[in-house]
Amino acid sequence: MKYKVNAIAQYRSFLLGFFFLIIVGMGFMIGDKQFFAGEDDELSKTIFVLQSGHESSLLTSVDTGGEKLVALTFDDGPDPRYTPDVIDLLKRYDVKATFFVVGQNAEQYPFLVQRQVEEGHEVENHTYTHPDLRLKTAVETSEEIARTEECIRKLTSRTPVYFRPPRRLYSDETVIQAEKAGYRIILWSICVENQRSKTAEQMARRVIKAVRPGMIILAHDGRLDRSQTVEALPMIIESCQQKGYQFVTLEELLAAELPDKD
Ligand SMILES: [Zn+2]
Repeated sequence: MKYKVNAIAQYRSFLLGFFFLIIVGMGFMIGDKQFFAGEDDELSKTIFVLQSGHESSLLTSVDTGGEKLVALTFDDGPDPRYTPDVIDLLKRYDVKATFFVVGQNAEQYPFLVQRQVEEGHEVENHTYTHPDLRLKTAVETSEEIARTEECIRKLTSRTPVYFRPPRRLYSDETVIQAEKAGYRIILWSICVENQRSKTAEQMARRVIKAVRPGMIILAHDGRLDRSQTVEALPMIIESCQQKGYQFVTLEELLAAELPDKD
């Protein structure tokens, strides 16, 4: 009798344990999914603004018809802590990249922007103060864009043509103002920095696994601690080059775009 009671108690605790594991497991899966929704540490708290009907004009990748071209793009610099290392790395691997600079940083470190251009990279517009553009008026937005444009033009003698809203946060007004100023709005296919990637190796592995022709890869060379990005870059570049990919600027990637079939 005593043995029987023990057996029932054991069975009960086994069942309880089993259900406990299922519930914990489901929690992890849901948690994982939520994490994955945030593509970037910048985006973890992002509420995507998808009500505008402008999405088709926001570029996330380019159809190169299978040609193995990808664009490596850097946001939030220039930053003397990371940008010089990034430019050195690009030079070592003969990679041309696109830098979406923050106007006030470009003003503070003009020599870094000049170096980017001298070494064949493209410099584009990522606003003047890196604000949440959903909270800005039309006039404020157009000032953010114009002030950065002026700064880039002064430093590079070239007018930027691509605009990327900080943290992918934008409103209808952002799209209207950027397009009115003559910009094409560029988002990205994948971001090197990601909450699921804890180490440089994990960051690199994730990008290498996902790489496809026409992809726009986003990395960061400023604002937060980007030391892991700098560590991951050689792995990403080497592996992609071994797979036959060529890194080009956004302008070159778009020049390789297949004409619309419609
Ligand atoms: Zn940014």
